[in-house]
Amino acid sequence: MSDTTTRSGALVESDRTYAPHEAVLEASRCLMCEDPPCNRGCPADVDARRFIRKIRFGNFLGASRLIREANLLVGICGRLCPQEILCMEHCTRAELDSPIDIAGLQRFAGDVELGTLAPLPEMADERGERVAVLGSGPGGLAAAVELRKAGYRVDVLERSGTAGGLLTRGVPPFRLDRSFAESELEYAKRVGANVLPGRGDANPAELLESGYDAVLVAVGLWKPYKIGLPGEELDGVLVASDLLASVADGERPDLGKRVVVIGGGNVAIDAATTALRLGAERVDLCCLESHDEMPAFRSEIETAQAEGIEFHTRTMPAAIVGEGGKVVGYEGFGIRWKEPGLLVPSNAEKIHGTEFRLAADSVIEAIGQSGGDRYDGVETDRRGIVAVDPDTMMTSRTGVFACGDVTSGGATVVQAVAEGKKAAEGVDRYLRAREDGTSEGGDRR
Ligand SMILES: Cc1cc2nc3c(=O)[nH]c(=O)nc-3n(C[C@H](O)[C@H](O)[C@H](O)COP(=O)(O)OP(=O)(O)OC[C@H]3O[C@@H](n4cnc5c(N)ncnc54)[C@H](O)[C@@H]3O)c2cc1C
Ligand code: SF4
Repeated sequence: MSDTTTRSGALVESDRTYAPHEAVLEASRCLMCEDPPCNRGCPADVDARRFIRKIRFGNFLGASRLIREANLLVGICGRLCPQEILCMEHCTRAELDSPIDIAGLQRFAGDVELGTLAPLPEMADERGERVAVLGSGPGGLAAAVELRKAGYRVDVLERSGTAGGLLTRGVPPFRLDRSFAESELEYAKRVGANVLPGRGDANPAELLESGYDAVLVAVGLWKPYKIGLPGEELDGVLVASDLLASVADGERPDLGKRVVVIGGGNVAIDAATTALRLGAERVDLCCLESHDEMPAFRSEIETAQAEGIEFHTRTMPAAIVGEGGKVVGYEGFGIRWKEPGLLVPSNAEKIHGTEFRLAADSVIEAIGQSGGDRYDGVETDRRGIVAVDPDTMMTSRTGVFACGDVTSGGATVVQAVAEGKKAAEGVDRYLRAREDGTSEGGDRR
């Protein structure tokens, strides 16, 4: 079921999911280990053994509801989690034949639940304090739901006109149908979170002054880096995040027949496989890293290879070539690392005689994003990564917390969910300590 080569060439999600009898069969292979390593592998604390047991005995909705208690993004994480390096990595069953397909089973549970009204969680008594959450991606949403469960009044202020973060405006629709993110946004609203799209002007200091008791910054990393290549100003040069957001919004830009993508991460792979679906006949992906060094998930690299993306690994860009103001080519050269293991451009050494040129109608840059905002009193590094106390997720400003990509520097959906839960706990501890007049929760002033 994790066969990555079965995806269709359309811009809609098409991977096959389990039929109920197949899910029961797969769940029946689980050894129900006494101290299951699968559970230790999940950052969001999903109890894989218990939900697999429910599927095994045909209680499919029970399985999705159990997952939801720990991670509201049931079907989304079933699709997007790199489970082969998380819960499935140490599955005991691998010693006998192959690991249990926990990803496929979670995905199945999410599919069964979609369209049903997931029951609301147990809620604490309403409290008077108000919390503002900036950003409605996985981190912000997970935190908002946890804060509502703890009784707080929660406003989720979202800069974009479309809520959901990278789930709705990043991951391409053929990997994640938007209905999943919409369904989780509905769930957050039913739990009582007030989701307000189109509200990106808010600043934590002003929000605190205006009466919010705590602010949680979950704004992700949204400012793309540019390489600074000769020819970057040409017509036909794009940034991957802009391309993916426009495709998510329903646009179908014409990239021409030959496309070059620069970058070795998941965003580069998504841009390359999206370009194919937009009609490109050949897509070349050029990156600094070797295959094994690429930061993209293994399964995504394999899918891209199976779809025919041409990889030019351990190469560096030299220039984008134009004619009449329009892209016509891309130039690069082969590299080796001066110091092994340090995978940054400044450590790359050109190998003479390896220069190459590719024909191109479009060049897409996908070399990463930084945090775009700076807030008064909130410490950030050069990339805009917000520094937090790892126990409470509080920033250098008292009452301001942060979670997700803006603190991790860019990780995964499940990591953002786990951090959102932790930040909600930090906010709760801080507000209760403030009420009690104690300093627990950390006065950072
Ligand atoms: C193309 C792509 C593919 C990916 N594929 C995978 C995958 O397969 N599996 C996986 O686990 N992870 C994947 N990721 C990573 C994953 O999407 C992120 O780690 C995750 O979305 C981070 O969640 P977040 O809540 O921190 O931020 P985001 O999802 O980025 O959400 C942040 C939200 O904050 C909003 N915002 C920004 N500034 C403000 C402001 N000032 N005020 C209010 N709102 C603001 C933004 O508009 C956005 O909606 C992928 C990322 C990309 C870009
Ligand atoms: S480690 Fe594998 S076999 Fe053991 S409980 Fe988890 S999924 Fe089942």
